[in-house]
Amino acid sequence: MTRSPGSQGPLAELAHAVATYVEYQQELGVAGFAPAAAGARLPAGAVVPGEAPAAPLPAPAGAPGDGGPSASAAVGESLEALRAAIGDCRRCKLAPGRTNLVFGVGDPHARLVFVGEAPGHDEDLKGEPFVGRAGQLLTEIVTKGMRLRREDVYIANVIKCRPPGNRNPEPDEVESCEPFLVRQLAAIGPEVIVALGKFAAQTLLRTKTPITQLRGRWHDYHGIRVMPTFHPAYLLRNPGDKRLVWDDIKKVMQVLGIGTAPA
Ligand code: SF4
Repeated sequence: MTRSPGSQGPLAELAHAVATYVEYQQELGVAGFAPAAAGARLPAGAVVPGEAPAAPLPAPAGAPGDGGPSASAAVGESLEALRAAIGDCRRCKLAPGRTNLVFGVGDPHARLVFVGEAPGHDEDLKGEPFVGRAGQLLTEIVTKGMRLRREDVYIANVIKCRPPGNRNPEPDEVESCEPFLVRQLAAIGPEVIVALGKFAAQTLLRTKTPITQLRGRWHDYHGIRVMPTFHPAYLLRNPGDKRLVWDDIKKVMQVLGIGTAPA
């Protein structure tokens, strides 16, 4: 995973990266943040001193079968195999209304996975998660804030097909679709999940606790650390809370060893 070489040489590229980063900090009203090194990548195995590394996702048991929504999967199942197994899924009532099934995008071995709720209008049309205005904000968090590339992380949703009118997914839809996410995560093996918004956080963590109380603290999902934070769509409506999301993201960066967070 290397950046494409800039046309202006490495020093100009570095200067541009730093300027972009500082500008992003200023947008957030952050002062005194010690940034990660330019072009920071996700070093393998870095953890916060004193914290045990998160346990891997439990080894899935059973045969791949027909690709049904069982959380069980073949050991070593790849994302490609899972996507093929899902196929033209009709396992819940969201199938008839979708344009595209939105599986997920990014590094198939990412250490960091962002999980949102479900595809919206733009995502449904394009077949890719987080590509609308909220998606642009998530991309800024990754590229300007964390100084990674979007393709260095993995981005997916709990639900793979757009609910009509962007309504909240219903329990039977979650029951049908979430096991695919479990298998996705088993294939990727991330160290950290960032749960974007109330629905993703409450679904993953099986809780009704408000996102305002969940965010900013570490939780566990099948042995993987989970950091809930506000959904980018919420931030579009409440830009003043970007600072809180940045606080959460800094904790993620610290665990992954990709930045130095202030006290
Ligand atoms: S939402 Fe999930 S379970 Fe329902 S049709 Fe789409 S992929 Fe299948």
